[in-house]
Amino acid sequence: MAVVDRSADQVPKPRPYPERDSAPWWERVNQHRFELQRCDRCEAWRWPPRAMCGRCASFEFTWVPLSGRATVESWVVNHHAFLPGFASPYTVVLGRLNEQDDLCLPATWQSDADPTPGQSIQIAFEAHTDDDGPFTLLAWRPT
Ligand SMILES: [Zn+2]
Repeated sequence: MAVVDRSADQVPKPRPYPERDSAPWWERVNQHRFELQRCDRCEAWRWPPRAMCGRCASFEFTWVPLSGRATVESWVVNHHAFLPGFASPYTVVLGRLNEQDDLCLPATWQSDADPTPGQSIQIAFEAHTDDDGPFTLLAWRPT
């Protein structure tokens, strides 16, 4: 999976503020590892990270690597900069993960071309730096 160095950006994107359930997820993202919780009982993938499986209510899970491949389910082009570091217009894509049909993950879009429905995409890591040091965000890009 690609890593794009965005540390030279004049205005960095906002740093994530992990909470109890998402801290292990962001730790993996910062290590450029694309892993999700997978239920130990029913094998459903979970996103966003949480304590209990939404399918079988199990509290048991394992962090498992994914391919990072998905298809474009939907997208939005923002013409208003809601947060610093997001120059308008910018696109956010909802990617339907190849590993599980009912699991979609939003991320910014890394391409000059517009996304198309059902397009094959791949997750990429964006390495950022702010006053508190380095951090990583995710983005979708065409395969
Ligand atoms: Zn389960």
